[in-house]
Amino acid sequence: MKILVTNDDGIGSPGVWALAEAMSRVGETLLVAPDKQQSGSGTSVSLRSDMSAVEVASPIQGVRAYSVEGTPTDCVILGLWRLAQGDIDLIVSGINLGGNMGTDILYSGTVMATLQGFYRQIPSLALSLAIRGEEPDLSFGVASNVAELLALKMTNGTMPGQAILNVNVPSIPSGLVRGIAVTTAASKSYVRLVASQHDGRPGHSWSTHTAAELGIYEGTDIWAVHQGWISVTPLRPAVTDHDSIPGLAEYVPALQSDLRRTMLGSTE
Ligand code: MN
Repeated sequence: MKILVTNDDGIGSPGVWALAEAMSRVGETLLVAPDKQQSGSGTSVSLRSDMSAVEVASPIQGVRAYSVEGTPTDCVILGLWRLAQGDIDLIVSGINLGGNMGTDILYSGTVMATLQGFYRQIPSLALSLAIRGEEPDLSFGVASNVAELLALKMTNGTMPGQAILNVNVPSIPSGLVRGIAVTTAASKSYVRLVASQHDGRPGHSWSTHTAAELGIYEGTDIWAVHQGWISVTPLRPAVTDHDSIPGLAEYVPALQSDLRRTMLGSTE
């Protein structure tokens, strides 16, 4: 069993090391993470051939680790094609410091790194700790346990479906976690940009919405996490709007004759 671990918070994040440790209990673990914070990088890929990948000392037995000057997607591509010794059986991304829910998953580097696994039929999993911002100490215990369990189930053939699993764990004491809920991604953003001041200079920073602000619907990822559930959303990246195809196909002949007229006009 070979597992590739990445994240978007960078190799210095405690979340990715907690995840690597959990994965080391499941199989041979290769950690390939960005050298700096890459949150919000979505599907971004650098397409550079001189990208550096530097091996870093790993404090965890059985984990090989690399720091990459690039995005989470770069890390997965490099991990799969250059750094892995043999085929990777599972890709796990996280544990992100902050929820990746609702429409925000589209620009999440944590979640979008797993697309590389989906496209290659490699089981893939993203994990985020939905921090509320008031925790005195962060605990990755529940998220690590969930990661380990899902990693085992996704690779032993017992888990139904081929989807990416996007997992959000509430950042609450383990005794208060209600269980696992299968959810849909809410059709609204979970975080927003607000104006802030750093060193006297105006800037912007991410802010987490509160539950009351969200107007969240039952059955969605945001709802579940706010209710104390571990949210598991199956994702299948598909961008075609099938509902628009019949109408557009009917419209195209008129468009085509306009185009012909324009082309004839341009050659005269
Ligand atoms: Mn992040």
